[in-house]
Amino acid sequence: MTTIKLHNSKTRKKEEFKPLDKNNVRMYVCGPTVYDRAHLGNARPVVVFDTLFRLLRHVYGDDHVTYARNFTDVDDKINAKAAETGHSIRDITDETIQWYLDDMGALGAMEPTLAPRATEYIPQMVDMIGELIEKGHAYAAEGHVLFAVDSWKEHYGKLSGRSVDDMIAGARVEVAPYKRNPMDFVLWKPSDGDTPGWESPWGYGRPGWHIECSAMARELFGEKFDIHGGGLDLQFPHHENEIAQSCACCGTDSFAQYWMHNEMLQVEGKKMSKSLGNFFTVRDLLDQGYSGEVIRFVMLSTHYSKPMDWTVEKAVGAESKLDDYLRMVESYADMGAVKSTPPFNAIVDALSDDLNTHAALMGLEHLANHAQGTELAANLIFLGLYSYDELVSKISAIQNAKASLLPLAEKLHQLRLTAMETKNFAAVDEMKEALSNAGITVKMSKEAVTLEANHNFDPSKLESLK
Ligand code: AMP
Ligand code: ZN
Repeated sequence: MTTIKLHNSKTRKKEEFKPLDKNNVRMYVCGPTVYDRAHLGNARPVVVFDTLFRLLRHVYGDDHVTYARNFTDVDDKINAKAAETGHSIRDITDETIQWYLDDMGALGAMEPTLAPRATEYIPQMVDMIGELIEKGHAYAAEGHVLFAVDSWKEHYGKLSGRSVDDMIAGARVEVAPYKRNPMDFVLWKPSDGDTPGWESPWGYGRPGWHIECSAMARELFGEKFDIHGGGLDLQFPHHENEIAQSCACCGTDSFAQYWMHNEMLQVEGKKMSKSLGNFFTVRDLLDQGYSGEVIRFVMLSTHYSKPMDWTVEKAVGAESKLDDYLRMVESYADMGAVKSTPPFNAIVDALSDDLNTHAALMGLEHLANHAQGTELAANLIFLGLYSYDELVSKISAIQNAKASLLPLAEKLHQLRLTAMETKNFAAVDEMKEALSNAGITVKMSKEAVTLEANHNFDPSKLESLK
């Protein structure tokens, strides 16, 4: 069996991945807070953990891997959006969840096995908070329930590598009169008539953010599971708090066995932010004509543990690579054999080495250079760049384009022969320009003209040339 190695944020080491139960490999990833379209940075953990999900399914079998990613559908940002737009919270969260699934689907992300919504696990959260109070790890005060970090002091901060005292010294923590220690974090808070709420032993209220992942993971996976992922921005305090809640409640020494964090995304070397005007959503990029596979390819080209820069130059490079690969598949693949072709060893090995996606893309390049069309197709699918059906329809579009381009190539060839005699190239230049506008790359030699559709190909613009 393939050995997978992963860099474990908990131990800060690359370790061999050994699942607790190889028949039931469990991965939990913190999902989005659903009040707005996902921005490009939000897509990074989706692509990273989707790639890991595909690798785990390959190694352990499709039916032996469960991937859970939650939707945070109770949050003050959602309440603010509801107040601002006059729409109901349920309408906002339902619509945003659908946008998210559509946009991430466009990037080739499979839907996780489980997609729990926080609001459907309130009783489990209330139970967990009750247990924490009983065990002396939490206390109720003024309608709030807080986790008492002093009750967990020797463990708190292990994941992010800081002590409680350092945190207090360095952090801008919210100091509230009802907190025993400024680092204590909210498990439950009071709601009024304008904010969503549920009855609880501590009054009408709603959960703090951190408790949802602990409660859902316990309900879906049990007290311990294999991999927990998310962006590096979540390592502290969110993940630190998840560990504290889960281990203190269950009396266990560990929660997730392996923690993985993706680094942040930047745009043209700068932090993506609304004030810098370089903030965009995945939908913005798709609408601008960058296809989902191009966005995914660019994301895979940087290792997940490194900050990644989105640049137009990279997107253009990815477009031309994928164009080349499609042409190779069209020329050399036996599409009937693609589904039964296993992923290329070099690609599986690259991903098994702490998800070295850059090296995995080199594997595609190797297959393309050796005209291994069927393998290339199978591995484009394995890396989530295309589904089988997408690939088949792309190939047939290329073939149809080829058929319609043959007579045009012949026409241009004849125009060129005439122009060589008359020394008047106006008609040739005019046709070349029209072809280029239709997304056709023109190659001319003395003997022949070849025309190839590129990623800007628009068949409707060919009509006037016929
Ligand atoms: P949020 O909805 O803000 O909780 O974020 C959802 C996911 O996106 C989390 O795993 C975050 O860590 C991740 N994320 C947010 N911003 C970025 C970014 N700029 N680069 C990479 N990941 C991000
Ligand atoms: Zn979480």
